[in-house]
Amino acid sequence: MNAKVWLVGAGPGDPELLTLKAVKALKQAEIVMIDDLVNPAVLEHCPGARIVSVGKRGGCRSTPQTFIHRLMLRYARQGKCVVRLKGGDPCIFGRGSEEADWLYAHGIEVELVNGITAGLAGATNCGIPLTLRGIARGVSLITAHTQDDSSLNWHALAQSGTTLVIYMGVAKLADIQAGLLAAGMSGEMPVAMIENASLPEQRECRSSLATMQDDAAAFALKSPAILVIGEVARASSEVGLPQLLHA
Ligand code: SAH
Repeated sequence: MNAKVWLVGAGPGDPELLTLKAVKALKQAEIVMIDDLVNPAVLEHCPGARIVSVGKRGGCRSTPQTFIHRLMLRYARQGKCVVRLKGGDPCIFGRGSEEADWLYAHGIEVELVNGITAGLAGATNCGIPLTLRGIARGVSLITAHTQDDSSLNWHALAQSGTTLVIYMGVAKLADIQAGLLAAGMSGEMPVAMIENASLPEQRECRSSLATMQDDAAAFALKSPAILVIGEVARASSEVGLPQLLHA
């Protein structure tokens, strides 16, 4: 059998949001390489596996990407069943495709397994529908953090008619707010900031574009958090779809 690595999404945190396919991969894993954002509770599905932590949260102790690549390759070439477990979905701001490409280039078979991405889970847990007939015709998943610090096309985003779901935005609130206001988005546009989505410690801060920075500071918003910006962010677990539609 060819050497193979499974690139698996662990979901946003709640272990029950793991897919059956992810559980199947974990059950047969001999090596599981995990990121920081993976909830260790999901490791109950691979009690016999060797767990290798290769996390790298911004600013903290970090594992270089090349080291992760080589380690995956080494284990795979030893004939081990390797699962590379990533928070959320492996291909949403998760470098899943980079790792897959590198492995393919080195003759390793790769199987990608979806996970529920944090933006979707966070919105749903707060009662926010990311798309809504007549209100939001789509959803844009955006990272506020770029390698070269280039800025986003806020004009295009503000005019897109889509709900904006922003990842890695906690340290970039000022840029996001200024960019969207300058692009003509109303200061009254609802904003939901959701910390630790789907975990017992989940917190949500409801705000508006004009006040999001101050509200986040007063709330002591911390990473990991996602921002949902758009009319749909008016909805909540208490005030749901029907009220929003007829507001
Ligand atoms: N692949 C992941 C995203 C990794 S990028 C996914 O699909 O979810 C890391 C960013 O994801 C964090 O900065 C934060 O914006 C977001 N994130 C990940 N887990 C989160 C959680 N439980 N709650 C809120 N945001 C989360």
